[in-house]
Amino acid sequence: MNVHDSERMAGMLENLGYVATDAPEGADVILLNTCAVRERPEHKLYSELGEIRLLKAKNPGLVIGVAGCMAQREAQTIRRRVPEVDILLGPRSLHHLPTLVHRAQTGENSDGLDLECDPTPATPVHRTSAISAYVNIIFGCNFNCTYCAVPSARGPEVSRRPSEVLDEISELNELGYREITLLGQTVNAYGHDLGRLDDGSRIDFAWLLTRINEINPKLRIRFTSPHPMYFNPKLVETIAGLECVCEHLHLPMQSGDDNCLRRMKRTYTVDKYRRVINDIRAKVPDVAVTTDTITGFCGETDEEFENTMKVFREIEFDQAYMFAYSPRHSTEAFDWPDDVPLQVKKERLARLIELQNTISRDKNRRQVGRTFEVLVEGQSDKDVLKMMGRTRANKLVIFPGTPQTYPAGSLVEVRADEAFLWGFKGDVTRSLEIAPPSRVLMELQMA
Ligand code: SF4
Repeated sequence: MNVHDSERMAGMLENLGYVATDAPEGADVILLNTCAVRERPEHKLYSELGEIRLLKAKNPGLVIGVAGCMAQREAQTIRRRVPEVDILLGPRSLHHLPTLVHRAQTGENSDGLDLECDPTPATPVHRTSAISAYVNIIFGCNFNCTYCAVPSARGPEVSRRPSEVLDEISELNELGYREITLLGQTVNAYGHDLGRLDDGSRIDFAWLLTRINEINPKLRIRFTSPHPMYFNPKLVETIAGLECVCEHLHLPMQSGDDNCLRRMKRTYTVDKYRRVINDIRAKVPDVAVTTDTITGFCGETDEEFENTMKVFREIEFDQAYMFAYSPRHSTEAFDWPDDVPLQVKKERLARLIELQNTISRDKNRRQVGRTFEVLVEGQSDKDVLKMMGRTRANKLVIFPGTPQTYPAGSLVEVRADEAFLWGFKGDVTRSLEIAPPSRVLMELQMA
């Protein structure tokens, strides 16, 4: 989500005539996009601003902006600690950036921090890939997970109008994009605020996926992040039945214990979560399932943590993003005792990571010998004679080749000869579709 927010801000600045630079000392505008989900990026912001304010001392015309979740949540602190900041821009108000830059140039400090504003106006986008694109479909979040800073930074849910989403995807399809990731904090809540169509049917996430499939069933469609409570049999059927939807489900679980889930206000039980996974696996046998999980949340007992380990063994995720809990301001749990000692949080995290790594390797090993359709992303960063790409299940695949033989955007079939944590090494068995060289040029220009 933040990567795409940065693409939108870069697009708006480009539209104003700015060009990107690697030399901050020569910049006219420096904009830091921030995240408040975890603690470390917060510290990083102030150390970066410490450097940037020195540049402003030499170049008083420099416009300094802080955007994203920290700008929204920490506006007063940022203003107090770094008065040189000209612009504070919350993630819901990104489209106000051109106005705020203009005001800042006339010496006016200005903020775009209205949590109630309409976040949906379209903006130019500077896309960082010519193959894969992000498309926002719903902004904000109506849940109130007790550990989470997102609702206080991004405000309540608002779906984008379907015509705008579908027009953007049609345009990307015509430009030759091969893969689109639909974005939303609760992406499968899409449409609940949009009412009904003329024939009385509801606009929902399943409806949107069906319309996207009509644009081009060969587009690879991914989505992040869905919420377990918004899964129902119709959505599972739709995902299973549409060619465009990739066989990968990222479904945050957060804990494998019902008491802990209750304290987190996740609104589902382990059993509900398990049922969603089982339903998907029954209809999409090759689906890869990934998750997010927190260790050491307030009050997490040894037994609760062991339950999470048990669910990890049972479900066998393909991958997991695992974090030790850190309290965030303006969340319900911030006022609760952070009573799991740091050492215990870290030990639990290390055990969970070790377990998950074993599961991931084993699952990948079991698939050695199979062939996969791979979308070529580019040259491997470790070996110039190797290329890399992703399967529909989002596994990384490394194979011999060069950008001349398999330009980025090509589709190839690769036989998995060796498994590693994130995917496979193998050999191309068949070229399915070779992308035109112009795509390579475009990639280079964008890089
Ligand atoms: Fe945060 Fe919960 Fe909303 Fe996800 S669903 S963004 S964890 S409040």
